[in-house]
Amino acid sequence: MRLYQSKTHTKPNFARVLKKYLRLDYNMLRFFIILLFSTALFGAEVTQYHWEKDKSYLAFLQEEKLPLKPLYYNLDRDDQFLTKDIFTGVPYQILRSDDGATIEQVLIPLTDELQIHIYKDKKTQQYKFEAIPIESIIKKEAFYLEIVSSPSYTIVKKTGSKRLARAFESSFRKSLNFKNVRKNDRMVMLYDQAYRLGNSFAMPIARASMLEIRGKKHTVYLNHDGYYYDKRGARVQGFLLKAPVPGARISSYFSKRRFHPILKKWKAHNGVDYAARRGTPIHAAGNGKIIFAGRAGSYGNLIKIRHSGAYETRYAHMKSFRKGIRRGKYVKQGDIIGYVGTTGRSTGPHLHFELRKYGKPINPLKVVKVTTKKLYGTPRREFLDLRDFYDENIDFHLKNKTKFKRKPHIDRVCYFQKIK
Ligand SMILES: [Zn+2]
Repeated sequence: MRLYQSKTHTKPNFARVLKKYLRLDYNMLRFFIILLFSTALFGAEVTQYHWEKDKSYLAFLQEEKLPLKPLYYNLDRDDQFLTKDIFTGVPYQILRSDDGATIEQVLIPLTDELQIHIYKDKKTQQYKFEAIPIESIIKKEAFYLEIVSSPSYTIVKKTGSKRLARAFESSFRKSLNFKNVRKNDRMVMLYDQAYRLGNSFAMPIARASMLEIRGKKHTVYLNHDGYYYDKRGARVQGFLLKAPVPGARISSYFSKRRFHPILKKWKAHNGVDYAARRGTPIHAAGNGKIIFAGRAGSYGNLIKIRHSGAYETRYAHMKSFRKGIRRGKYVKQGDIIGYVGTTGRSTGPHLHFELRKYGKPINPLKVVKVTTKKLYGTPRREFLDLRDFYDENIDFHLKNKTKFKRKPHIDRVCYFQKIK
């Protein structure tokens, strides 16, 4: 049988990273291959620091005696903006020359997937700034647990990871009442965990979560389409929102990084793009109040709707707004608010759709409720294959009582790219 488990490796696995990229667009791939062949990897002792509270990027440059002009003032606005996103406490690394006198490279993570890279160009001896993807490896991991009290409590107690508990619980999308769980009920979780510099980081992704309540197994599976389904191929229900352009093809998913086709650089994609013909009606994803309807820079014609529960949706690049749609107006879920266009920074007609909670972009597909709730035909057959594969693995871990393995933390060792 095929096992859902990775071999342990401590160095970044480029084949795997590359494979992840093969699914993405050509520009991205080309960029990555250039990066691969023009650089060699080596291990070096570097110093790791933690970003101090309220420290600004500019203050950091000054402290380290790095030039402000090429590393800040000469950057375009998008890149300058990135430097405002450094989180307090984030671990960052500095690689110095052998005599310790000059800084050769700096890596500062911005999101789980994007980082600032400062380096000294060997030819020109000038410092350069770039935003690059964080190299990480994804390991497939699994564990078995016997319930102590609640599933979340058990996971935190046995693994020490709140993130695993959250990923397990949220994969069920409130479709299962965890209150019925009793002591000695069993659970298995199959998940992907990202590792960077030998340490785990970012939210684990639950691939399959199984909770056995009084002898009855409840399992949810993450399908190829990014949604969780139950055994019968019915989508585990989310809540709140409807797709804003029903039936439209998604041309770009929410991602903490992607290669921007116009700007030709790495940026986060804070929403989902729906490809549709110019003039296709756009519907309000939920009940709410329009808090903005107008022109907004790279968004083009933009509508913002505030919903209950601190949610806000944004609809960008619109051709035009529907008559009567303006700030202050209340709309119902499904109401037409405007039409697909390509205003602002856009390559062609599409809707850029964002969902924010407390102002922070979140993946709209995780909560958007779409009309099709059950899989049919080929997608169903593909899902059932995947389900059988996961079920086999779950049975294996149940039988073997697979223990959670704590990974050793590796400090102070870091992999920089050699700058030519
Ligand atoms: Zn977009």
